[in-house]
Amino acid sequence: MISRIKGTQDFLDLSFYNFIIDQAKDHFGAYHFDEISTPILEPVELFQRSLGEHTDVITKEMFIIQEHAERSEAICLRPEATASTMRAFVENGVQVTPWKVFSHGSMFRYERPQKGRYREFHQINIEIIGAQSVSHDVHLITMLERFFAEKLHLDTFALAINYLGCANDRPAYREKLYAFLTSKKAEGICENCQVRREKNIMRVFDCKNPKCQEIYLKAPKIIEHMCQTCNQEWQSLQDQLQLLSVSFVVRTNLVRGLDYYNKTVFEFVSNDLGAQNAFCGGGRYDSLAKEIGAKQDCPSIGAAIGIERLMLLLENKKAQLSIAQPKALHVVMPMGAAQHTLALMIADTLLAAGLCTDVLLEQDSVKSMMRQANRMGAAYTLVIGDSEQQEKTVTIKNMITGTQETIKQIELVNYLKR
Ligand code: AMP
Repeated sequence: MISRIKGTQDFLDLSFYNFIIDQAKDHFGAYHFDEISTPILEPVELFQRSLGEHTDVITKEMFIIQEHAERSEAICLRPEATASTMRAFVENGVQVTPWKVFSHGSMFRYERPQKGRYREFHQINIEIIGAQSVSHDVHLITMLERFFAEKLHLDTFALAINYLGCANDRPAYREKLYAFLTSKKAEGICENCQVRREKNIMRVFDCKNPKCQEIYLKAPKIIEHMCQTCNQEWQSLQDQLQLLSVSFVVRTNLVRGLDYYNKTVFEFVSNDLGAQNAFCGGGRYDSLAKEIGAKQDCPSIGAAIGIERLMLLLENKKAQLSIAQPKALHVVMPMGAAQHTLALMIADTLLAAGLCTDVLLEQDSVKSMMRQANRMGAAYTLVIGDSEQQEKTVTIKNMITGTQETIKQIELVNYLKR
């Protein structure tokens, strides 16, 4: 037995997954976002430059594909989609901004698998590239909130927001944080945080260790060390969200895992998810364009929804969602090999008329074929034996009522479509 790779999944029924994607297409489409798709394979350098050399994704979690001798660049399976979307924007010379796009697909991170955490997982990514005003942040967050609350009827979630200041605010703040983390007040932070302090200081806030978190309650907060513009924008973000009736909590230790974020960051979380409680996260990334080689900065904001976690959250609510029921199934049953061609021709006619149709081509008794059709969830079975073939008829059985009648083949489509 060859098993699937650890941290990956087989989806044997995609109806729920597709329902979420369809709802997303409908909702984000209504907000005038276009669907795009970027490659799963990307240069490693794209993420090294954008996510930051010292982020967990880069140092521990990348799936790097063996380099081919004749190829100089290292290739990886994408760990996220924002850098790819920005690359696509720059590389294709998109001129119209704001560029409002969304995409969905597999992402790959070498993490320790657990409930809601996989090595291959799926995201819906939404980006507004070329979006200077903080009102874009409000618009995006509101759109997401409406998606979860109104489109998917989720009611057990919270929105956490924070503001990370701009590039000018960071150096002075980092110094203050460093002074705190090397002071007596921060004695006892874990080894990991001691490394983060030296390499990627703001990531200390991401630590899951309760002792560290208690210490960080007293740490200087970035929102208390921002320039006037950032202060105004931060206030405006909160005011506008309130006016639009989007509930939120301010979480001053929310920094998010990837280095490219600045200013607004946010997460949608739910206690129903356990340890991996975030099902959507995002923020502003004003300098990403330049980091990946664009000539100019291009202020932007985006978010990623974790589809598996959303599915976990919605699992108990499926009944309330209008997930499309499969179409009524018609099962054609030739009684012997002599009726196979006729069965295929009849199936072809039904399919051309838009009727969902399957054909049983194994040599079985009527009884076992009926049992199989039942297992398949057939609405009607269409038996074709010698006599039906000769008389150009079909014996139709309604699998719900059990009633049966024989009709002319030529009347079949009209009969089934009545
Ligand atoms: P990120 O790209 O890290 O900002 O994550 C955005 C969202 O993707 C998270 O809120 C999760 O819902 C989801 N996500 C991230 N990593 C994983 C993973 N390893 N397995 C499943 N979902 C994930």
